[in-house]
Amino acid sequence: MRLDSPLTDIKGIGEQLGKKFAVLGIKTAGDFITYYPRKYDDYSDIQTIKQIKPGMVTIRATIKQTVGRYASRGLHITEAVASDDTGSVRLIWFNQPYRSAAIKANQEYYISGEFALRRQRLSIQNPSAELVSSFPLNTARIVPIYRETKGLKSGQIRKALGRLVPIIKQLPETLPEWIINAERLLSRSEATLQMHFPDSPQELTAAKKRLGFEEVFQLTLAALLNKYQLLAEQAPVVTFTEQLARDFVAHLPFTLTDAQRRVIWQIYKDIQKPQPMNRLIEGDVGSGKTVVAAMAALMVLNQNQQVAFMAPTELLARQHADTLFNLYKPLGMSEHVGLLVGGLKPTAKAEAHQRLANGDIKLMVGTHALIQEKANMHDLALVIVDEQHRFGVEQRKKLQAKAGHMPHLLSMTATPIPRSLALTLYGELDISVLDAKPANRKPVQSKLVPLAGRLKIYQAVDEQLGLGHQAFVVCPLITDSEYVASKSAEQVYEELKTGIFKHRKLALLHSKLKPAEKDDIMQAFIRHEYDLLVATTVIEVGVDVPNASVMVIENSDRFGLAQLHQLRGRVGRSGQQGYCYLVLSDNQAPKARMRALETSSDGFKLAEYDLQLRGPGAIYGTMQHGQLDLRVAKLTDTRLIAAARTRAQEFIDKQEDLLQYKELYEHVRNNRTVTNLN
Ligand code: ADP
Ligand code: MG
Repeated sequence: MRLDSPLTDIKGIGEQLGKKFAVLGIKTAGDFITYYPRKYDDYSDIQTIKQIKPGMVTIRATIKQTVGRYASRGLHITEAVASDDTGSVRLIWFNQPYRSAAIKANQEYYISGEFALRRQRLSIQNPSAELVSSFPLNTARIVPIYRETKGLKSGQIRKALGRLVPIIKQLPETLPEWIINAERLLSRSEATLQMHFPDSPQELTAAKKRLGFEEVFQLTLAALLNKYQLLAEQAPVVTFTEQLARDFVAHLPFTLTDAQRRVIWQIYKDIQKPQPMNRLIEGDVGSGKTVVAAMAALMVLNQNQQVAFMAPTELLARQHADTLFNLYKPLGMSEHVGLLVGGLKPTAKAEAHQRLANGDIKLMVGTHALIQEKANMHDLALVIVDEQHRFGVEQRKKLQAKAGHMPHLLSMTATPIPRSLALTLYGELDISVLDAKPANRKPVQSKLVPLAGRLKIYQAVDEQLGLGHQAFVVCPLITDSEYVASKSAEQVYEELKTGIFKHRKLALLHSKLKPAEKDDIMQAFIRHEYDLLVATTVIEVGVDVPNASVMVIENSDRFGLAQLHQLRGRVGRSGQQGYCYLVLSDNQAPKARMRALETSSDGFKLAEYDLQLRGPGAIYGTMQHGQLDLRVAKLTDTRLIAAARTRAQEFIDKQEDLLQYKELYEHVRNNRTVTNLN
């Protein structure tokens, strides 16, 4: 038996059972031993029958005879009496007719279950019973509970895992010995054994610590290695010209915030170095990231090199191109800005390519695919990526190949990434936080609305429309679904258009529309040809509608906090008070999670809160190419994260040979392709 042996090599697992394990993603012995329990029931406290009180109990007792019978309405009841030196207790199983045959009379068993009153008599109900042995699986210990599937229960999983104990005991070590010693970690073999068959709560904690450490260590090491690899690359030095920066700022219609100044300065320092910048700007919606990017690009344009500005959608690309055009106009530099999106007419597209080729266009704004594949950026010095975390190694290498050097990278996001996650996942990035908003911005007033209050809210919305403002209504679905009881944009659009907003102009926007259609609708909305836009979360990223003052989010509890926060940032963007009504899916008292939106306007706090409550996968799952495969580690465990990072850095400083650690090497290699931004 080896780690890569198929599961059916395990005694007792045939074709049929093998298929059920496959449903849980377990195909090999190796998969199986890392299929960690979901939770544990502690049955380690063995009591005498005289001691037991109602609740979960474990006893060690001899079972006399067991009797099964059918009671009323097809209910099957199995009864038995268990005795120890201190007394006797009744055991009762419902609809488990196999019990009477399975239990051997006059043998000593460990018995765990709920001791409770039933028909005026106390009994232990539906207990697990297991012959007394030195290695019980289901009773008399801390018992692991696994994620189950139809026809495959934790009991069977435990039994099959029991057969793998010899393999687990021989698992090779994966971490360097000096780290194990310094961090006082269990060996991998011992930790894995304790995860599935814990001897005590302390051992279980130690096992989680070891395996969690390893997960974070691998991620962090991969990130740091990326960082150093990138530092070894050659990037163009971008000269900082102070007078140009001053001129640019002098022509802005507003004063930069201190946060913007700080971040711009960090960028200028980065790009003056011959190593590639690798910086992520995190800033709430409306914190003014675009002008920061424009100032970074300014210096590149000034020395006649090129900038690629990539947006996630065509609409956003167009908006950015307009914004940049206007920002550079006072300096006479706007003709350097070009746009490359799919929706352009063929002649316009050809012209853009041509102007790029002859050097007229130096700053190309567009969607990823177009810039990446079609644009000939032969003297590319800076890549700006808006609202997308991931910009893979491969992508960047392609640009490097065209340009002959590694371009600097500036990535921007409105998604607040808690520090713990940033250190683990994005460890190769330098992060700048735009933590202050322009002074004229008021926090959006947010209110949770029970379902019953929904229509009244739309009256409040109508008042805003009456004042000449515009509104968004966001729905979780595009079309009605028979599986999900959430509001769809199509349905809400019909409802509002024919009902309460009969006298207003409404539009519908969702991701199934063609890019050009989406574009047209959004542009028309920006020009105030519509009062109200019913949409799915397509409006989430970046789009600026200065006149919008109110947003209604239907079934708001279906969204994550960070996402809701990003959504509501779309309103109140030009000095007017913004309002956000978060309609709930029912009339029950809102959960604390949702209430946090009413009280906090701090995107980081909300993201942190979501991370604790729902884990990283739930929040960040969609924004990554790969999965964040943390099975044991909690990203809220800051001590663990700090320790793993310190050791990963030490590992690099010691110039350890990664190839010596075969499994670690594999993991790091995987992580580097998955969690990469450079
Ligand atoms: P985001 O960070 O969401 O990308 P934008 O860059 O789109 O934000 O900026 C949002 C709006 O705020 C824009 O209209 C922009 O002109 C304006 N803005 C940016 N910086 C400032 C500032 N310092 N003071 C006032 N308004 C600003
Ligand atoms: Mg933006």
